Amino acid sequence: MNDNATPLPLGHISVNALKVVNRLTEHGFEAYLVGGCVRDLILGRSPKDFDVATDAHPEEVRDIFRNSRSIGRRFRIVHIRFGREIVEVATFRSAHEEIHEDSHSEGGMILDDNIYGTFQEDVFRRDFTMNALYYNVDTDEVIDLVNGMDDIKAKRIRLIGEPDKRYREDPVRMLRAVRFKAKLGFNIDEDTGSSIRQIGYLLQDIPPARIFEEVLKLFMTGHAVATLEAMLEYDLFGWLFPSARRAMDDTLAGKLIHLALASTDRRIANDMPVTPAFIFAALLWYPFIENRKRLEEESVTHVEASHEAAANVIANQQLFTSIPRRFSGPMRDIWNLQFRLPARYGRKPEILIAHKRFRAAYDFLLLREESGEKLDGLGQWWTSFQEADEDARGKLKLQTTGKKKRKRKRKRRFNHDRMSANSYHP
Ligand code: ATP
Ligand code: MG
Repeated sequence: MNDNATPLPLGHISVNALKVVNRLTEHGFEAYLVGGCVRDLILGRSPKDFDVATDAHPEEVRDIFRNSRSIGRRFRIVHIRFGREIVEVATFRSAHEEIHEDSHSEGGMILDDNIYGTFQEDVFRRDFTMNALYYNVDTDEVIDLVNGMDDIKAKRIRLIGEPDKRYREDPVRMLRAVRFKAKLGFNIDEDTGSSIRQIGYLLQDIPPARIFEEVLKLFMTGHAVATLEAMLEYDLFGWLFPSARRAMDDTLAGKLIHLALASTDRRIANDMPVTPAFIFAALLWYPFIENRKRLEEESVTHVEASHEAAANVIANQQLFTSIPRRFSGPMRDIWNLQFRLPARYGRKPEILIAHKRFRAAYDFLLLREESGEKLDGLGQWWTSFQEADEDARGKLKLQTTGKKKRKRKRKRRFNHDRMSANSYHP
């Protein structure tokens, strides 16, 4: 049962997590480090956070730690804060209540004794064997009831129990499987993987807000490209992003999405800021362009077409993943600026550069070009313009004079819009 001969590297364990476990055991409770942190310690990776499982009830945990609070919907969890670090303490629970967890409102939940579980139940309600190892800090032992240690050694992702049943209980586990595959470089075990292709559609039943949270973990934690590839391999991508998935079949969308995710991964590796707005802008660019083109054919003006197409595409995507307004706004800015970037005369370039979303829009333009859209060197022009001094900038600008200006301007914008609209049908 307990086959762990090699002690975990204690030095990598957060002193605060150790403090929490020790205080709980001093008070006569059982307490273990559990989940991703144990898995990561075994792998020699440094865990991003520490989870503790205990038989103490939340009120009991709160009585012991003054720096603690019960959190949200998942009220069986207590957060204990140490400066910037938070240690999460969860009371043992059984599987059956978890299934109902999302369907109950916070206020509607009744703290009933039988919602808690035993140690055993807590082990078997977890998702993958590699995530169900419990580390006893006192004895330096890993308790492994599910052969998780062997699976970690074999780099194998294996669901506990019967895959079909476990995915039906919580379809998000399918996304977790591909995320761990990408993040850890593990393989998904045959049975654990084959179900996914059959029942990926169950993800449609998950509230869009929860899916959005999961999308952040999929694409914003430094392994986005590998995650996308795993999602495509297991036919999951289309359940989250149906319009993007369709666009991938006959446009440059796949290339653009790939480049945007690669750039996100690179930025994270270099500790640079990233935003989901940029990723969503890339995911939905072709659906947006296509929709916009249709509206233009109905002789709606460019500006109206952009506005409406963005609203349509975003509303449609929100049936699957929510997109909080703080991200959909910037995303629309990135899109709208694409149609303003070709106007390179008069004061326009300076005005555009001062736009708070210019940098993101310029980066996006470069990715569009890199993905194969024919934009006539527009990206290079903006690169040169930003590097140039005032004199050189003047020379770079497109020339327009007097009366002709309005006419030429309109023509150029029109051409560009057509060019973008058509560029996915080369
Ligand atoms: P990460 O390194 O991404 O944090 P993690 O394994 O710690 O990975 P968390 O989401 O922090 O993932 O969850 C902590 C633990 O809770 C998991 O290791 C697993 O044991 C359990 N768990 C999380 N989500 C589920 C789920 N949907 N179904 C069953 N168990 C889950
Ligand atoms: Mg974790």
